[in-house]
This record gives sequence, structure tokens and C-alpha cells, in this order.
Amino acid sequence: MQSISPEIIFRGNDAWKKALPQIIKLTKSPLILGRGIHTNSLRNKIINDLKNQNLNVNSVDLQYDCCYEDISRVKNFILNNNNDSVIAAGGGKVLDSGKYIADCLNIPCITVPLSASTCAGWTALSNIYTKNGQFLKDVALRACPKLLVYDHKFIQTAPSRTLASGIADALAKWYESSITSSTIDDGLVQQAIQISRVLRDQLLIDGEKAFKGQFENNPSWRNTVEACGLTAGLVGGIGGEKCRTAAAHAIHNAITQIITPNKFLHGEIVGVGLLLQLRLEEMKNNNKLADQSAKQLLLLMKQLNLPTTIAQLGINVFEDHNLEKIADFTCRDKSEIHFLPFEIHKQDIIEVIANFEQQRIKI
Ligand SMILES: [Zn+2]
Repeated sequence: MQSISPEIIFRGNDAWKKALPQIIKLTKSPLILGRGIHTNSLRNKIINDLKNQNLNVNSVDLQYDCCYEDISRVKNFILNNNNDSVIAAGGGKVLDSGKYIADCLNIPCITVPLSASTCAGWTALSNIYTKNGQFLKDVALRACPKLLVYDHKFIQTAPSRTLASGIADALAKWYESSITSSTIDDGLVQQAIQISRVLRDQLLIDGEKAFKGQFENNPSWRNTVEACGLTAGLVGGIGGEKCRTAAAHAIHNAITQIITPNKFLHGEIVGVGLLLQLRLEEMKNNNKLADQSAKQLLLLMKQLNLPTTIAQLGINVFEDHNLEKIADFTCRDKSEIHFLPFEIHKQDIIEVIANFEQQRIKI
């Protein structure tokens, strides 16, 4: 079974307003799930609008990440309050938690992304972390959300850093799926890869204009946020589990194992993983084009103020055995790194990262 997309999607400037009549048909007692304080006022608007429609509304905030501690606390709350749906309004971790909890309890999930940092509002997948933000595993859900509300006015209120992060994560669709899945003899997978190529081209053209420009009457902004929040999800929906992630996400997952005082966004870490993946392709697969791709990507990442080294993520790989820790986790048995069409060993990761970090420090 494959769940390609949410059942209903509302998008654009008044998406939330337009979605309201549909939401009322779907739920009488929703739980609103959120997290950060800077999105509180948006969630209050959502809660008030629903109360004005005579719905019985509860709300809970995540305390940490999309982790089992928060998940079981929210599940118990829903069971005690008889909520009949989850409305997850926030970033990727909130959306992933909401989808996971709704899936466990067999109630509908409505996703309302409040930034363009992720395609989690679309997908039938949740990434589970520890409460300290260390990646544990991804879980395939039975279906995509029942309803996705992609309200541009909500997304405009998010910091521009979240847009940059979403761009890096959406770009990964092409760089990862084209290397892991290009030999799979399945038309839908091949079409998904081609959509991710067009998605990459659009982000290379529009990404900087979207990041630096104003929202009003800026088609680049509109196209970019929809590319990150919608099209990236569609690629995953059509390609399914065969349209796989690869080294960039494997390295992301490994980097999250090292706890740092400042937290970085998912796409910010994936972006660094992409640069490292291209270096691996060059060294281990003799890919002559990888260096050119890396230069093109690096230019865009700098325009978007994205971190371009592990050092810029607040981790010195040459201290505390960090390099070994990252290499160990990247090459563990269940890692996506093994979806690459060439063999990768721990020593390859150590070499590539050490060279990469040393070179970039000198620049
Ligand atoms: Zn990702």
C-alpha cells in the first residue's frame, strides 16, 4: 500500500479560512499540538477560530522533540479528554509527533505547517528522536495526513532561517534519490526522481530571491515555499520507500548524536551532509561531476546563510572522538548510507570528513 498525498490540501493566502468548513465536518473535539513560543499567537488564532465554530478544543505543547516521552504524554492526554483528531500546527517535529500520535490512536491528523522548513505536513513518515534531539529512527505511517493546510500568511511569519533550512532539505531529494534509485525499474520511482530534478532547478533559480525578497507579490517566495512544503512531499509520496535517502540524511542522523548547546534545524544539518555526500561520490565512485555540483550547491548555501561545515554546526570533529562517533553512527547496520551504489566503510567517512573540515577551515 502506498499513500501518495494528503486527502485534501488547502494552499495559498487564505488556506486556513477556506479549510475551516472542512475541518468542522471532520472533528468535534480536536487536540491542537504545538511547541515554540514564537508560534503561540498563530496557535491561539487557530484555537479561537475553532472555538467560535463551537468545537470542543484542547491544546498541548511538546516539551522536547518528536520523542517517546512527549508522544506518550500527549497520547494519554487525548485518551483522557476524548479528542477525536489531532491538529498539528508548527514545524517538522510538531507535525511528525502529531502524525505519529494520530496514527497510533487511529484518529485523523490535520497538519498546519507554520514554516517552510519541512515537507512533514505532507508525508506518511515520522522521524523519532530522543528528548535531547538525537535521531533514533523513522517510522512509516499508514497514511498521509487527512488534511493539509498550507497557509502562506502563517508561513510568512516564520524566521527566514527556516526557509533556508527547508530549501536544503528539499534539494536533498534530488541529490539522494538520483544516486540511490536511478537503477530501479519502476516508472513511478523514475518519475519521482525527475520531479525532484525540476524541484532542484527551481530552487537554484528562485531560492535566493525567495530568501532575500519580500513576501508580497513575490512569485519566487511562493514557488519556493510550496516547493519545500508540498513538492518535496509529493516526491516522497510517488517514489515511496524505494525513492530513498542516502548519505546526506545518514550523516545528519549521525551529527544529531552529538549534543551541542545550540540546536540546528534539520535542513541546516542535511545541507552539510549533502556537501559531504558529493565528496564521497567524487572519491569513492569517481564521479567527475560531483565537484561541479558541490560548487553550485555551496554557492547557493552561502547566499542562504546556511552552515557549510560541521564546525559551523558547533562541533569540532577533531575533539572528543567526535569524528569516530559520527563515522560509527553513519555506518551502522541500519544506516541509509548503505543505499549508496558503492561500498562505504567507517574509514571512508573519517577520511572524507577530516579532509573536508581541514580544507574548509583554511578557506
Ligand atoms: Zn530531511
